[in-house]
Amino acid sequence: MTHALVSTGLDHLPFPTVVIIGGGFAGITLVQKLVHKPLKVILIDRNNFHTFQPLLYQVATGSLAPDNIGFPFRRKISNMSNVAFRKAEVESIDPQEKTVITSKGVFSYDYLVLATGSKTNFYGNSQLEKNAMQLKSISQALDIRSAFLQEFENAMYLQDNERMAALNFVVVGGGPTGVEVSGALAEIRKNILTQEYKEVGVQQMHITLIEAGPRVLSGFSEKSSEVATEYLEEMGVRVMVNHRVKKYNGEKLVLEDGSELLTKTVIWSAGVMGGAVEGFPKETYTKNNRLSTDAYLRVKGVQDIFAMGDVASVDTEPTGHPMIAPVAIQQAHWLSLYFQSLVQSQSIAPFVFHDKGSMATIGRNKAVVEFGPLRFQGLVAWYIWMFVHLVSLIGFKNRLVVLFHWAMKYFSYKNVIHLIVRPYDQKKSL
Ligand SMILES: Cc1cc2nc3c(=O)[nH]c(=O)nc-3n(C[C@H](O)[C@H](O)[C@H](O)COP(=O)(O)OP(=O)(O)OC[C@H]3O[C@@H](n4cnc5c(N)ncnc54)[C@H](O)[C@@H]3O)c2cc1C
Repeated sequence: MTHALVSTGLDHLPFPTVVIIGGGFAGITLVQKLVHKPLKVILIDRNNFHTFQPLLYQVATGSLAPDNIGFPFRRKISNMSNVAFRKAEVESIDPQEKTVITSKGVFSYDYLVLATGSKTNFYGNSQLEKNAMQLKSISQALDIRSAFLQEFENAMYLQDNERMAALNFVVVGGGPTGVEVSGALAEIRKNILTQEYKEVGVQQMHITLIEAGPRVLSGFSEKSSEVATEYLEEMGVRVMVNHRVKKYNGEKLVLEDGSELLTKTVIWSAGVMGGAVEGFPKETYTKNNRLSTDAYLRVKGVQDIFAMGDVASVDTEPTGHPMIAPVAIQQAHWLSLYFQSLVQSQSIAPFVFHDKGSMATIGRNKAVVEFGPLRFQGLVAWYIWMFVHLVSLIGFKNRLVVLFHWAMKYFSYKNVIHLIVRPYDQKKSL
């Protein structure tokens, strides 16, 4: 199939073209940093909006609406005279021709930046991939929201054992996402089930968090991990560490030790892999589908192509940097300086990541935060978590609305959004 060369509306500018694939934390930060620089900047993304992934779990559990954590690219770039946005799915790249092949046509570049993020890793288990739910995008978050609300409604028609299976929610993976989702489900059980589904006893809903390693939040200190486990157990979440999921057929989850759980809803947050697109030499891809780069974020084996964020595996680290937002943002800042140094023919020191800490929230007044040697937990950590997430959101209106939703939830003990407007059909989504 032949593809037409896409016009970007920036042809009148006498500057080199930088194509950025992906408007996540890395891509959108780089775009902002290259405004009014002597470069034509083309941002390509499959969505027409940026997603603030750290709050996806709140959309999935009905605390926030999708629009609160997304921001349209076109609004963001409307005043940027050297930036264009094109919505398209990138299929592959051709480093020889210096082109990007997309669902909408071909883009040519002088410099290419891959910022395509990551995707859920099921470690080759296709049955799990088919039946478990994921939390990487707004549409997946809405699927989870509809799925649990549908199960609540269905439970009204079921008798004891069937009802238990419908209300047995399993979260796999004890990283920050798994912990946050489990905590949010526990709050729903306490506040929503008891008030709005009174016929269903609260004891009939079970939340189980399964982690293959010896503790949850393995990237945090042992103390924070212990505190998080205590919080979860206090909230009625069953935490199973040192357990590995073997298979799940949509009804029954089987662990490696042979034990079984009947459940209709499994949320998989047990792994991510790079979202690299096709077209690079074979040796450029790491085992985890990231793109191997040098310390200058230059993708190995090709010319004038850079990678940043989750998709980049910088070779100064044995397995690349962690797949977290601060790495993506810092790399984008650094790459903007690199482009400026190229234009001005100056040299620049390689990228170095400055780790400012980690945080996870478990529920109302319950969070753990680590800034270097400083450790916070409970209410103080919860306030820090809320403040950091609020200021990191894109758009003043989003910040205001999220703050409003959080305040409403805090005082009313109710999640804000409880409509099944987009029914989830497991069979259809396979
Ligand atoms: C549920 C969840 C919770 C998280 N919580 C935290 C947290 O609390 N703290 C933290 O630091 N990190 C957190 N992370 C990780 C953090 O969100 C990522 O590290 C960060 O988003 C990486 O930024 P990125 O720019 O590399 O990729 P992304 O933000 O994933 O952006 C990638 C972009 O590329 C686009 N794209 C991908 N492939 C294509 C293609 N082929 N064609 C066109 N467009 C494409 C996507 O649409 C997307 O807009 C969380 C992630 C998830 C999923």
